[in-house]
Amino acid sequence: MAERYYISREYWASILNVWLEKFFIIAPRREEGGLYFHEVDNSSINSIIVDEVRTVQPLKNYLLPPVENIIKKNNNKNKPWLFLGVKACDLAALPILDQAFGGDFADPLYQSRREESIIVSADCNKPLSTCFCSMVGGDPFPTRGFDLNISKVWEGYVVEIGSLRGKELLEGFDKALKEVVKEENEAVEKMRKQTRVKVLKNNRDFDFNGSYTDIVSKSWESEVYKKHVETCVECGACNNVCPTCHCYMLEDASRKEFVKLRGWDSCQYTGYAVTAGGGTPRPRLFERFRNRYFCKFKYLEENYGQLGCTGCGRCIEACQGKIDMRVVLKDLAAR
Ligand code: SF4
Ligand code: SF4
Ligand code: SF4
Repeated sequence: MAERYYISREYWASILNVWLEKFFIIAPRREEGGLYFHEVDNSSINSIIVDEVRTVQPLKNYLLPPVENIIKKNNNKNKPWLFLGVKACDLAALPILDQAFGGDFADPLYQSRREESIIVSADCNKPLSTCFCSMVGGDPFPTRGFDLNISKVWEGYVVEIGSLRGKELLEGFDKALKEVVKEENEAVEKMRKQTRVKVLKNNRDFDFNGSYTDIVSKSWESEVYKKHVETCVECGACNNVCPTCHCYMLEDASRKEFVKLRGWDSCQYTGYAVTAGGGTPRPRLFERFRNRYFCKFKYLEENYGQLGCTGCGRCIEACQGKIDMRVVLKDLAAR
């Protein structure tokens, strides 16, 4: 078993205060409409909610900002980021972003943010009705990709070390680290099991036999997309909130100085993928709507070796047209 410790709530608060001196801590707190990542300072340290469920905005907002000048040399940060309370469905998106902005044509801005960032993830214990991580091969608790992971147990946390950087984060806190005991490990497993069952129970009505990739791959001619797209208003929210969506546009924003802006794009917009001269591969809205399903469940699987959907449910929550991806997929499976 991985190296684990138990940290009581009192010690946890003092650890956070020390981390605050070394890092920009970004952590969830409750606001209208749900939990939101925000930058923590001494006055807001007590409002952090590390357990419960994912934030409204995805982690990608920090690693790949909605708009930025890609000519700038650095992030002007004097301290690295420490992301606290990241959930499994955001962590699962990182290998996709890492591949999209890595490899032979690595993006230096993304890479530097990613390399500098510390991730302290956390188990979920209050899944939303829109959560469906367990339906797409995930789970409501992180198993990899973190430096530290914390699981709330009674009045403290079981902390699991996931990397050398994670181990270093705990250096100097010997008094706070208690060797984890059987009961604490059992409490973690029990909570994980209960949360997984909740997610599966919430999704009972959306279950079907077969794999998402198979179902979507065979759906090119399906009328289901035309039916569900009727309420789509092309707002692009489904792409904006998605932790794996990463399409962008570039714009030369100034004639006086070299400013090249990169901003998020949406495959639901009329202008998406339009070429010089006005040509477009997907002129009709249902074709763009269908593209999102093919991208998530076929293209990314083929190109990056994993589904492009982590089941976070944000696109369901954000959709102005009340389109639920799970309903669309179930409908596709039924035809
Ligand atoms: S989709 Fe799963 S991992 Fe993500 S917040 Fe919901 S329960 Fe947690
Ligand atoms: S497609 Fe929807 S549910 Fe899947 S990862 Fe993106 S926002 Fe989350
Ligand atoms: S969020 Fe809903 S309404 Fe907006 S573009 Fe996506 S599917 Fe259409």
